[in-house]
Amino acid sequence: MTSQLIFFPESTDKIISQQPLLTGLINLQLISKKPHSDNHYLPGEHFLSCITFLGCSPSINLQPVKDESHCFISIIKPTQEVVCLGYTQSINPKCPACKKRINNWKTPDWKKAGETCTCDKCQAQTPYTELNWKHECGFAKCGFEINNIYPHEAVPTDTFLENLCQFSNFEWNYAYSNNL
Ligand SMILES: [Zn+2]
Repeated sequence: MTSQLIFFPESTDKIISQQPLLTGLINLQLISKKPHSDNHYLPGEHFLSCITFLGCSPSINLQPVKDESHCFISIIKPTQEVVCLGYTQSINPKCPACKKRINNWKTPDWKKAGETCTCDKCQAQTPYTELNWKHECGFAKCGFEINNIYPHEAVPTDTFLENLCQFSNFEWNYAYSNNL
């Protein structure tokens, strides 16, 4: 099972292509300039000022160690359609209308773009992509992921989110994933 911290546009209609995203992340020094392997970037000089680990120190290797897993960053291949980029095993979305937790939200097609969720509390209908997922799920057409980060183990700094916005010209959101 892999655990990831995923970054994606706050608004599902926004898109950034791979090269400008890569250049932006290199300039912020979230990632090293040279890929370690194909679409596999090691943390850059400023990684720990972009991402805050909530324990004393990262429990994951930030550099490769033989026979152990390490932290690395990959660009998510952009798609034409909005897709579910990942989610945690403890997702429990909130209704944007009444702000309450939605019961029985999980339908067989919930990850498909265009599907609508009906709130059991207020009956509001909201596309799944627009529910308040509380960083437990992400829908988008593009983004990037930091691999081997466990849910809620680390959070992006406000400055990092602002810096992402600066080069892409749109707001970013993030979510954890450990379902795959
Ligand atoms: Zn509701």
